[in-house]
Amino acid sequence: MRIPSDIRAIRSAAPVLLERQNGHCFYCARPLRDKSHVDHFIPWSQYPHDLGHNFVLCHDSCNLEKSDTLAAAEHVAKWRERNVQWGGQIDTELRGKFVCNLETATTVAEWSYQNAEASKSRLWKTGDEYTDFDAAVLRMFQTG
Ligand SMILES: [Zn+2]
Repeated sequence: MRIPSDIRAIRSAAPVLLERQNGHCFYCARPLRDKSHVDHFIPWSQYPHDLGHNFVLCHDSCNLEKSDTLAAAEHVAKWRERNVQWGGQIDTELRGKFVCNLETATTVAEWSYQNAEASKSRLWKTGDEYTDFDAAVLRMFQTG
């Protein structure tokens, strides 16, 4: 079992993600310079396992702002699109290091957003901006 302090292993996913994201931050879409962070899209606090398809690369600052909240609908749409388009490739490139199963990652995300709906959690947009829970987000896990 991987432990949360295994930063170096998580860091090793960065080059793969950087390429998929064309060198841009997953959340704010601005160029990533040296300070980037591999983020658990579904926060570690909700699902403490490293799934390859759950990783995104972002600025340290965006990661800090998102903290352990769930991301807003526009980010979910982007995450789904990334995984539908590049899921196979992420699997190929990361499966030696992490559990890579797109179906599992999608199911975990759906479960997590269902919980957020039930608890009327707000979703993180950017900076210190949040939005009310948007039920449309749940449909994003259905297609694919
Ligand atoms: Zn950013």
